[in-house]
Amino acid sequence: MSLLELQKKIIYGPINSRRLGKSLGINLMPTTYKLCSFNCIYCQYGWTKAHTLDVGDHLSDLPTKDEVKNALEDWLKDKKRVDYITFSGNGEPSLHPEFDKIVIEVKKLRDKYLPQAKVAILSNSSSLNLPEVKKALRKLDVRIMKLDCGTSELFRKMSQPAPKITYQDVVENLRDLKSVIVQSVFVGGDITNTVIDEVEEWAEKIRYILPEKVQIYSLDRPSAYKNLAKVDHKILSKIAELAQNASGVKIEVF
Ligand code: SF4
Repeated sequence: MSLLELQKKIIYGPINSRRLGKSLGINLMPTTYKLCSFNCIYCQYGWTKAHTLDVGDHLSDLPTKDEVKNALEDWLKDKKRVDYITFSGNGEPSLHPEFDKIVIEVKKLRDKYLPQAKVAILSNSSSLNLPEVKKALRKLDVRIMKLDCGTSELFRKMSQPAPKITYQDVVENLRDLKSVIVQSVFVGGDITNTVIDEVEEWAEKIRYILPEKVQIYSLDRPSAYKNLAKVDHKILSKIAELAQNASGVKIEVF
């Protein structure tokens, strides 16, 4: 198996997602390289090429609001069914400067063509210092937000955030956002978040954030950093049990 190929269009899939069922993807990032505020060691797309919170130098590579709207309408007007319409793709979707306006257009199209579908995001939780991003996220039906680590030190190693992103801000913003699903990836190998002290710290942050639930999983395919290993399902179940007991929050293993 190899790294996942970048999404080549604005609309991709639908893919059969373990967590979302049949999910149609919307990629708001460039189609020829990954633009992300993180450079996660386990990223299935490989290393981040444009590593920033500020997409100002990349605007010509991003789709416009109308391009997103037209591409989605082209797909939806054939009345194909999906369970979710999900912002994801080649980096962090909420970095798009028109993210709030795009969310509004996507919801209008969902209401017109597929009212039973939910509009969701898979986000790395890094852009929530911007009030307009929080406002846009609150308009979505489902917010699946990343928190892999319990300490700032490991966060810097695993997520490799762009400048100005702090672990403390991520945790506080997730707590403030409310009604979120936290997603956490566990990895073994040279760099791991499975040691007991780290799991306890992570569980403590889950208790503080109080998400609706937490979804944990491990690697499905090769990652950017090669010296990582998939975490066994039994270990994931133990992590889930420990964190659920410590936090009172439901933890699902995928
Ligand atoms: S946040 Fe997502 S897209 Fe960005 S580097 Fe991490 S795994 Fe890859």
